[in-house]
Amino acid sequence: MNWGLIGASTIASQFMIDAIRTLDGHGIRSVLSSDEKRGAGFARRHEIPSSTTDLDELLADPEIGAVYISTTNEKHRDQALAAIAAGKHVLCEKPLAMTVEDAAGMVEAAREAGVTFATNHHLRNAGSHLKIRELIQTGRIGTVQSIRIFHAVFLPDFLQGWRINNAAAGGGVIPDIVVHDADTVRFYLNEDPSQVTAIEHSTGMGQGVEDSVMSVWTTPSGVMVQTHESFTHAYAGTGIEVHGTSGSIVGRNVMTQQPVGEVQLTDDSGPQSVSFSDHNLYVRAVTKFADAMSGNGEPSATGIDGIKSLAVSVAVKEAATTGKTVSVNYGGV
Ligand code: NDP
Repeated sequence: MNWGLIGASTIASQFMIDAIRTLDGHGIRSVLSSDEKRGAGFARRHEIPSSTTDLDELLADPEIGAVYISTTNEKHRDQALAAIAAGKHVLCEKPLAMTVEDAAGMVEAAREAGVTFATNHHLRNAGSHLKIRELIQTGRIGTVQSIRIFHAVFLPDFLQGWRINNAAAGGGVIPDIVVHDADTVRFYLNEDPSQVTAIEHSTGMGQGVEDSVMSVWTTPSGVMVQTHESFTHAYAGTGIEVHGTSGSIVGRNVMTQQPVGEVQLTDDSGPQSVSFSDHNLYVRAVTKFADAMSGNGEPSATGIDGIKSLAVSVAVKEAATTGKTVSVNYGGV
């Protein structure tokens, strides 16, 4: 299977090119960039045979069977729809699109075309999160009452571009990080947040977009979720806590791209450390995507998962902007 990369991005450079190349029989054939020189340099650096500034040219290549889309967020929809129309399987970065309606249109187009479509939510591929989910779903902490998410990080200088100053490109911490937290909660609970309330803030890093947000969500079964996402916290560390009627799980340093962190379970017998797999998150994501392309199972995060995580982030943005509690609109999905 040959892949085309749509977007000469940091995430492709740091994680996804290597992940795709771990798959037996998979290679990368071309990269699309809006800038000819950047695209050519990117291709050279990553030993990709060709680069182009013309999406139609990349998609017309019959040797390319799948694309990975990692451009800025406002471009995902049109690029995905074009790839689907060309019969390519699509692994798309989060957030899938700028609106829930657009994301639903992408997923529906893929379904009609019979191609595999997935969302690149990495956290649910982490050994830590898989283990926490297993503990929850096997009843180790009883009925879940609440979840607290600590996802306030410091955006490194080299990423302080569109994310902090370009709302039209999908900038802001809400589209960037809340989607991951929403996906993680949904993954743990097998249910979708129903109502949210939020307050956002810009400390000055964000110019015209929020760089920090705190929100509270509820779910149909009554789980309360509290989240904090930020680009400006250099020393906070990340984590997640899940509190149930017969135990609590605490994951420290687990809201991350690396297979790291610690998980601790506390119940009537006291605190105990929980071990988990340290496999590469992105390798697991592309492996499941490749299996799905071959007709075996589903991607780890489907298109529907991408629509739903986006829907929660859209509701958080609306709640933060209006000061009201908002019902999450999943667009009928
Ligand atoms: P980047 O800013 O690195 O890349 C986004 C676009 O910016 C690229 O497509 C490229 O355009 C352009 N670009 C890249 N480098 C430069 C440069 N030096 N000068 C000018 N333009 C440049 O973004 P990320 O890689 O951080 O994010 C891309 C997408 O991936 C987003 O949708 C984001 O939400 C998602 N993401 C997902 C993660 C995950 O773990 N699932 C983690 C990080 C990001 P062109 O292609 O036209 O050359």
